[in-house]
Amino acid sequence: MSAEDIPNVIVAVRIRPLSLDEQNHGHRSCCHVVGDQTVIIEKEGIPNRHLKSQRGSTNEYGFDIAFPVEATQDEVYDRTVKNVIPTILDGFNATIFAYGATGAGKTHTMMGKHRDSKSYDEFIDDEYEDGVPDTGIIPQSLSDIFRLIHIRQEEEKAQHENEGGSSSWTVTVSYLEVYNEAIRDLLNPKSKNLSLREDAQKGVVHVSGLRHVDVASATDVLDLLRTGNCNRRTGATSANKDSSRSHAVLQVTVKHTSTTLLSRHSPNAEISEGKLSMIDLAGSERASSTQNSGIRLTEGANINKSLLALANCINALSSTTQKVMRRRSDSALKVKEKRFIPRTKYRDSKLTHLLKSSLEGDCRLIMIANISPSHTSFEESHNTLKYANRAKNIKIRPKMHVVTAEMTHIQRAEKLEQENANLRKE
Ligand code: ADP
Ligand code: MG
Repeated sequence: MSAEDIPNVIVAVRIRPLSLDEQNHGHRSCCHVVGDQTVIIEKEGIPNRHLKSQRGSTNEYGFDIAFPVEATQDEVYDRTVKNVIPTILDGFNATIFAYGATGAGKTHTMMGKHRDSKSYDEFIDDEYEDGVPDTGIIPQSLSDIFRLIHIRQEEEKAQHENEGGSSSWTVTVSYLEVYNEAIRDLLNPKSKNLSLREDAQKGVVHVSGLRHVDVASATDVLDLLRTGNCNRRTGATSANKDSSRSHAVLQVTVKHTSTTLLSRHSPNAEISEGKLSMIDLAGSERASSTQNSGIRLTEGANINKSLLALANCINALSSTTQKVMRRRSDSALKVKEKRFIPRTKYRDSKLTHLLKSSLEGDCRLIMIANISPSHTSFEESHNTLKYANRAKNIKIRPKMHVVTAEMTHIQRAEKLEQENANLRKE
């Protein structure tokens, strides 16, 4: 699949199964997947035999993909993220969000249960006994990134043997959490609240002082994640905070530098840089239950500012698109409507500011909205469906991040050496 064929936005919903405990306590399933793209939700629960009669009701929501309770981790990965991974190697950015209330399955979707239960015990449930690997999006993406790099390296090696040139791949990782509008480097527990810096000219936002670690394998990254999650837990006890209220942001940057001898007269190297951001968002329930009870959302109230800002960005992006569509058919509306187009509010929170380039539209977006089927979670699940439904309207245009840089002296020397060797061969 070529980069152009890959959708720029995928909004998927995944319903987790009722847990044994929920089943034992008589919880009913209030949401179901019908077909491949539709979720039906009904407050009191819907018996399967009544599903058909509910079609077309106001409680029906459509998405790019709707994963039923039986969906496996592989299915979720294959249909959402898998095709995007090669584009990261080509220099595109992509961001994956796991959205949903606490207990809805975000961490399960992102992390899952890892094959190597001894090293990654924190990702393993006691119930996990069947020995079947059940890895989530993060471990699967990482292993695909390194697998694909290896394949490309082999191809390049053959090419360089024939035509000369050189290339190198580097993968770096950062892992941070955003809690209460403070950014903490999970790979450097001593770091305090880190600040965001925006390059005024390029518009690129970076976290000042954030540690970026070079990694050589998926296992390296999973080890770092494990350390990071320990730091997260320590922080949680000392500050008496609840990790379900913080966003965990893992960013993997893949850099490819290549010099080719086909362009003999141009001493340039091409560098491409793709970034994959994988975000286990804070539980969405607090913000939504506050809204439900009609309490005014004020600064200092017990809300998650970043999650609200993300919703605002999604609203802004989707309503901008709607207005643009309307403008085409009625130019008189243009001026009037334009005033009401909300500016993308990524600066409203640390999370959205950090993800500015994803939200401004040069990055692929995958949102997986997780919901619990229990009728006791009806309100939360319903809010999640409404939130995700809005994200469907986002239109973006990803761009490749490739720069042609001046060759370093070393690269130039290597190139000359290679050229000499080729001449000698001839
Ligand atoms: P969240 O991160 O949204 O708070 P979790 O991912 O921790 O929720 O999920 C809550 C519980 O439900 C965990 O025990 C998890 O293993 C289980 N769970 C979530 N999704 C699934 C699923 N698709 N299949 C089986 N168990 C799941
Ligand atoms: Mg979680």
